[in-house]
Amino acid sequence: MCKTQPVNLVEEHFIHISMCKCCKRIGLHYTNLLCSFRILEFKSFASSIIKTNFNYNAVYFPDQTNRIIISTCHQDIQFCFTEPEFYDFQHAMNEALLMLEVHIAIQEP
Ligand SMILES: [Zn+2]
Repeated sequence: MCKTQPVNLVEEHFIHISMCKCCKRIGLHYTNLLCSFRILEFKSFASSIIKTNFNYNAVYFPDQTNRIIISTCHQDIQFCFTEPEFYDFQHAMNEALLMLEVHIAIQEP
């Protein structure tokens, strides 16, 4: 990301999603992890998150909690969400996609 002022797409409790006005990269900031994507990569990531069913994909962890493991662009780093965390994440992805479409639409001449 550059040092220019980013456009906020989603700003929620643990999730901030913004786009750099300069290089158009999208930053997904979840708690203290920051992943960055090109626009098409982000759209594909967000769409696949929205379509993912928690119960079908959840894994039982040793602390007796079901969690879903979500791959990132780096093969050794995964998100790991409980069910409520995952629904919040899905909601944020949905909102980010809508905001991104709006932003792209108003940018076009
Ligand atoms: Zn940038």
